[in-house]
Amino acid sequence: MNKKGQLIVISGFSGAGKGTVVKQLVERYGYSLSVSATTRAPRPGEVDGQDYYFKTEAEFRNLIDYNGLIEWAQYVDNFYGTPRKFVEDEIAAGRDVILEIEVQGAAIIKKQYPDAMLLFITTKDVATLRERLMGRGSETEEQVAKRIRRAAEESGMIDNYDYIVINDDLDTCISTVHSVIMGGKCKRERNEEFIRKLQDDFREEP
Ligand code: ADP
Ligand code: 5GP
Repeated sequence: MNKKGQLIVISGFSGAGKGTVVKQLVERYGYSLSVSATTRAPRPGEVDGQDYYFKTEAEFRNLIDYNGLIEWAQYVDNFYGTPRKFVEDEIAAGRDVILEIEVQGAAIIKKQYPDAMLLFITTKDVATLRERLMGRGSETEEQVAKRIRRAAEESGMIDNYDYIVINDDLDTCISTVHSVIMGGKCKRERNEEFIRKLQDDFREEP
């Protein structure tokens, strides 16, 4: 099959549960996960270099200037971006890499890497989204309201995605996302090189 790793973009409304899902995908199935750079302040328990590379705005701008990010975007009040080297090295080494990024970044990735698989994770409705955001307890009520407004805008961008998965029961969502990725990787057009080799192999048969 395809020797290069698969680039997988996972987006979803803030609070839909994509962080929870992605963490389990990494633990259960061994996906490689890109750690983003951000100017956002760490939440309690978040570790620099593990959850994000926490940067000042000047440091972030420097990363942009030196072409260190494959995409970046402003989300609510902060900047977020994907470090280039890790992603390129992992794909070249044949590992499947997940980027957990928002919709503007996902659109940039699709332009730069047309083979990337774009998945959108959502709650079944807005009420559940609000409940999860409030339940997480990491944002103030005003920040939750901002994130819901942003989610409303993002809902118009779902058309850019290849797949949509509802995060209702967590375990079902995790295994569905994994199955979708595996299914996507088996698409014939993603495996042209393998097919040609297989056909050559038959040609060499006596
Ligand atoms: P995101 O990364 O999309 O912003 P999180 O992964 O932080 O979302 O999840 C938001 C909140 O919802 C967290 O408190 C998380 O534990 C909870 N959560 C995630 N998935 C589910 C689910 N399937 N059912 C109930 N709660 C969930
Ligand atoms: P949070 O502050 O909740 O960790 O993340 C806010 C939003 O930024 C989420 O939608 C998350 O997916 C997105 N995000 C995280 N890292 C990146 C990145 O590197 N690039 C882009 N474009 N978005 C990101």
